[in-house]
Amino acid sequence: MTQYETVIGLEVHAQLNTESKLFCPCSTSFGQEPNTNVCEVCSGMPGVLPVLNRTAVEYAAKMAMAVDCVVNEHSVFARKNYFYPDLPKGYQISQYELPLAEHGHLDIEVKGETKRIGITRIHMEDDAGKSIHSASDNASYVDLNRTGTPLIEIVSEPDMRGPEEAVAYLRELHAILVNLGICDGNMEQGSFRCDANVSIRPFGQEEFGTRAELKNMNSFRNVQRALEYEIERQKDLVEDGDKVVQETRLYDADKNATFSMRGKEEAHDYRYFPDPDLIPIKLDPAWLEDWRKELPESPQARKQRFLDQYGLPEDDALILALDRALAQYYEAAVSAHNEPKMIANWMLSELLRELNQSGISVSECKLTPEALAELVRIIDEGLISGKIGKQIFPELFTQGGSAEAYVKDKGLVQISDTSALDAAVDEVLAENPDEVAAYKGGNKKVVGFFMGQIMKKTQGQANPKLVNEILAKKLNT
Ligand code: ADP
Ligand code: MG
Ligand code: ZN
Repeated sequence: MTQYETVIGLEVHAQLNTESKLFCPCSTSFGQEPNTNVCEVCSGMPGVLPVLNRTAVEYAAKMAMAVDCVVNEHSVFARKNYFYPDLPKGYQISQYELPLAEHGHLDIEVKGETKRIGITRIHMEDDAGKSIHSASDNASYVDLNRTGTPLIEIVSEPDMRGPEEAVAYLRELHAILVNLGICDGNMEQGSFRCDANVSIRPFGQEEFGTRAELKNMNSFRNVQRALEYEIERQKDLVEDGDKVVQETRLYDADKNATFSMRGKEEAHDYRYFPDPDLIPIKLDPAWLEDWRKELPESPQARKQRFLDQYGLPEDDALILALDRALAQYYEAAVSAHNEPKMIANWMLSELLRELNQSGISVSECKLTPEALAELVRIIDEGLISGKIGKQIFPELFTQGGSAEAYVKDKGLVQISDTSALDAAVDEVLAENPDEVAAYKGGNKKVVGFFMGQIMKKTQGQANPKLVNEILAKKLNT
């Protein structure tokens, strides 16, 4: 049986989170009443002229630099012509022959190995509007609020060899965009979208097979599943003696399958030509230098720093460092109470669980990093036990406020007053003469029983370390 190798190349569209659109002053804000963020320019009225948004160019160039592209000082906008109801101009303004940036790369990690994925090009373009198909009144509507939102398209080389590599690449790219603060990364709202090109070829064959282009996957998991499905479909076709046809296929998450949408357009179908309404972009090298200086620490560099500086395990460092907001939260907590490993543990278990369950992002979270640090500190200091800490965590998470004030207010503070504990221990020993005799006869296990009784008497608030010391003293005299 022939063994096949998978070849994947990805085209990622990322919406830049500028205030206004790429060529007009309309707002880019999401979720507004349909057709309220619209003007003559983005609705494609005749006779109007586009004016380029400088911040969008800055953001695009920063992304290009973050993935080691060569940023071209001279690039050109081109018209990509096609007809669709959500495209009022009848063409998309994109870049074709002279894109903003080329020849980059991204290092990904899969199963402990580092692999370099080539980035062919990054270009700028404007987004289309949205068609809304309503089943209830059997009509279609067009919302132009999204029309003209700045996008960058990041095209990879066909360097990935399986769905895991594709997802690792996407996660890494996503982390870099969000880290730069130029894209909100929301996949469900379409701020970060991916078209996956996939083909198979017999192992050892140099020439690529015919590819299908997959669309409509709005989560990392769906990208993985769509690719897995498509690879099997192509293998089955070839095994049956059929041919893969070059086409665009839509992924249906409910059916977990891909369906043919249309034959693949060729570049000449789009009749690209330089947009006569826009002058070429000319980037001053001094701007590029300034922008390069403003690049923040990359997620990968931050992960390495977390390994070196805080001695975290590899997997923990990766989770905390990849997401900029989570990393900032972590470092704020550590600077309030210098116990990096304990704080990492509380974040990775309790905090992430609460965030996932509530769907709240870390920046909206009411439990401040200082309050989390305080919780870890009062456990260290023996004010409360770790067990009580876990019990009260969900409430601290939803309420916010000081952890110390909370446990004092609720009377959850551990009894560390020796005379109070002394009395409790005396009572328990007096009430259980048989067990005391058993202990003196050599059965040391009854210590656990005594501890249980003392905890019961004190509603679980006795400081266990002190109780152990007192018990040892009293039983061995
Ligand atoms: P288009 O814009 O027409 O979709 P491009 O030539 O820009 O086409 O390529 C798009 C993507 O397809 C790139 O990411 C590239 O790496 C990938 N690609 C090209 N050929 C193949 C192939 N045979 N198998 C898988 N991916 C491919
Ligand atoms: Mg494509
Ligand atoms: Zn507009």
